[in-house]
Amino acid sequence: MELTFACGQCDAVGRVESVGSASEAVCASCGTRRPLHREAFDGSGGLRACAWCATDDLYVQKDFPWGLGLALVILSFAISTVFWYYRRPMPALGVLLLSALADMALYYIVGDVVICYRCLGQYRGAGANPDRVYKAFDLAVGERYRQEKMRIAELKKRDAEAPENVPKAP
Ligand SMILES: [Zn+2]
Ligand SMILES: [Zn+2]
Repeated sequence: MELTFACGQCDAVGRVESVGSASEAVCASCGTRRPLHREAFDGSGGLRACAWCATDDLYVQKDFPWGLGLALVILSFAISTVFWYYRRPMPALGVLLLSALADMALYYIVGDVVICYRCLGQYRGAGANPDRVYKAFDLAVGERYRQEKMRIAELKKRDAEAPENVPKAP
């Protein structure tokens, strides 16, 4: 199983190849090391929580290559435009239909990616969704974490702007 994370220090995207047996994540860009939560994995190596932030709210989505999907749409549109130009409506529609089918096929072929609501860490590979416990993105849960993120950002901003407001230790 592979973890894709965003470094907390420099925001660079990093990877841990076999996160199930790694003890820490190292940012390739700034060298920051962060210990991983070993208890996030069950006895058989299944993911039970996020190894990065220990949150057990995770969701699953299709690991769809959005760039490829978009390229397919643009290409088929360009080809069908040529057919329209030569007044050949059937092949023009055929190309559009084919690309829609290819898009659908692609959707079923691609695997799943499990994503953490809190840190947006991504998990791919065997054991990422043991017994299919993780479901699709839940708006209510997502909103809870979005609000949390906003509150943290707000607090950080307040601290940076007015350091005298931070209560001093006696
Ligand atoms: Zn970094
Ligand atoms: Zn996380």
